[in-house]
Amino acid sequence: MPHIQKLSPHVVNQIAAGEVIERPASVVKELLENSVDSGATRIDVALEQGGLELIRISDNGSGIASDEMLLAVTSHATSKLRDADDLFRVATLGFRGEALASIAAVSHLTLRSCSESEQAGALLEVNGGSLSPVTPFGCPKGTVVEVRNLFFNTPVRRRFMRTSQTEFGHASEAFARVALAYPDIHFTLEHQGRRLYDLPPTDRWRDRIVTFFGDELRENLIWIDNSDETLRLSGYAASPSINRGNNRMQYVFLNGRYIRDRSLQHALGEAYRGLIMTGRYPVAFLRLDMQPELVDVNVHPTKLEVRFQDGGRVYSQLLGTLRSHFLSTDLTVRVQPAGDSGGPAQGSQTGQGTSVESHQAAMRAWARGESESAGNQPSSARQASLDLGRAMGGTPAFRPFDTDRTFGTERDSRSGASPESAGELSRSDAAAASPTGDSHVPPPYRSAGVQLHNRYLVAEHDQGMVVIDQHALHERILYEQLRQTVLEGRLESQRLLVPEPVTLAAPELAAALEARETLARLGIDVQPFGGDTVLVSSYPAMLAKLRPEEVLRQVVEQLVSGGKMPDRRDLLDELLHMIACKAAIKAGDRLSPEEVNALLEQRHHCQDTHHCPHGRPAALVFTREELDRRFRRT
Ligand code: ADP
Ligand code: MG
Repeated sequence: MPHIQKLSPHVVNQIAAGEVIERPASVVKELLENSVDSGATRIDVALEQGGLELIRISDNGSGIASDEMLLAVTSHATSKLRDADDLFRVATLGFRGEALASIAAVSHLTLRSCSESEQAGALLEVNGGSLSPVTPFGCPKGTVVEVRNLFFNTPVRRRFMRTSQTEFGHASEAFARVALAYPDIHFTLEHQGRRLYDLPPTDRWRDRIVTFFGDELRENLIWIDNSDETLRLSGYAASPSINRGNNRMQYVFLNGRYIRDRSLQHALGEAYRGLIMTGRYPVAFLRLDMQPELVDVNVHPTKLEVRFQDGGRVYSQLLGTLRSHFLSTDLTVRVQPAGDSGGPAQGSQTGQGTSVESHQAAMRAWARGESESAGNQPSSARQASLDLGRAMGGTPAFRPFDTDRTFGTERDSRSGASPESAGELSRSDAAAASPTGDSHVPPPYRSAGVQLHNRYLVAEHDQGMVVIDQHALHERILYEQLRQTVLEGRLESQRLLVPEPVTLAAPELAAALEARETLARLGIDVQPFGGDTVLVSSYPAMLAKLRPEEVLRQVVEQLVSGGKMPDRRDLLDELLHMIACKAAIKAGDRLSPEEVNALLEQRHHCQDTHHCPHGRPAALVFTREELDRRFRRT
């Protein structure tokens, strides 16, 4: 074993650079943060070859005093912290005193700066960590940092770099994150001598967002603003029709710092649950402002992740605020103006039609039987609605097909939900029920509804004409009522006089037994019966039209699909979707005029009847104006 020795500062800096400086975009991020911290009101960024050849960032901020220039590029030297306590109330973007030293260790760096208190500025050059003397240099107040030939002395890292176009993509994302966080600062971005962004200061955040992400967003951003004693949450959530195949368009800024936080991403997903399709992600631009003491930003060298003192509270405030806004907003899909080729399909708005279509296809496959069985099972619809009416015990319900039940069964009112297991569901529901209280009330209809093609309902209201997908609407109504019922622990189940044995494959058997508790909350009782067989002794009364074995097989299919066990909250929700889908009237079911109106009437009792639980639209509105325009009645 060789002797232990202390590493030279140069090696230390190279190691630090390895952590923080991954690619040109990391340099752009660090230098922009320094410029913001310096109090600049204007920051210009110029890049060559995606930043691989040159990154130049100029600002008009406080500047660096000439006798501190050397310190600025020394590691662990910062003007932003004084003592250890400061580390727990960081109010600047930087605080580690490492960025300039790290960048200088792996590039040719030139620093020109003139501080507020000095007449003339100074110049310092560092080549791969070796310093030349600081010399006087005439320049305006502020700082210019130039970084050339990044990773010239770390060939392995250099080889990892992608094309300059890819690197430029990352660098401009880093630029956007800072420029979005500080709309009051004037930013510009140039690449290869071409100016790509010129962003004058604005007090309309929306304008800056739209500059980056296009006009599609302008009319689709919902402003939210909610404060409590410790946290202000404000910003824009995009309407559900705008969504993406990944979560990259979820911008969260904590005290002006762009962060990625899994729990907040989860809260966003929960808030939009049922409003956008499974596998799609909401779009949002949110600012969280809180006292710096309440959050630890010293978690990761790149400062992208933070640790909240009370993460649960931030989570519920985000979720609660969004849910209550959605409840008070009309999210009905509007038919696009004439001339737009596509209808209101989400694919046409996001430009990602194929993946949306494949999701839709997958969903249709899952909900199979919907169309095949259509029309030949009027009694199933009757049964479903009947059961719903009973399950709701008194709440006005869609029960147009009231017939007597003819089963040799006894009723068994469940109270399966233990308070702690209700937790995962009630979190979002408690939030949903929270403050504003002014739920969006759909406009009343002026005429009776009409059924078309045994699948669509058409009605007239003040603003125009609404076309409703009967299955999607009923499914949504049942889903919400079911969820409420399960929450209150009184989902009605049907106990079988003779339990039914069902033989399952080994993974299915394991999944079914593992999920027993969740299944019990849905009124499904399974017990091991030896070997690969389980006994079903009760199942949801709403699904009485199906055989117990069929119900269990459907459920098990949910449990094992995707290969991994979804978390309990997701699982319960998936099962509720499935039950609602199975129990709802189908496309193809003929309804009497009374039944049509009874179903339309139900809309008013629901939180969101604009989308089915999978996020497909349940209703389309053709506004009067749009109809007038299409018929050229000006
Ligand atoms: P940190 O930002 O964590 O303090 P850096 O290595 O990024 O560490 O910068 C070191 C110091 O150099 C900063 O604390 C700051 O005093 C000074 N500095 C860097 N960039 C600028 C700038 N653009 N304007 C003014 N001062 C700067
Ligand atoms: Mg810094």
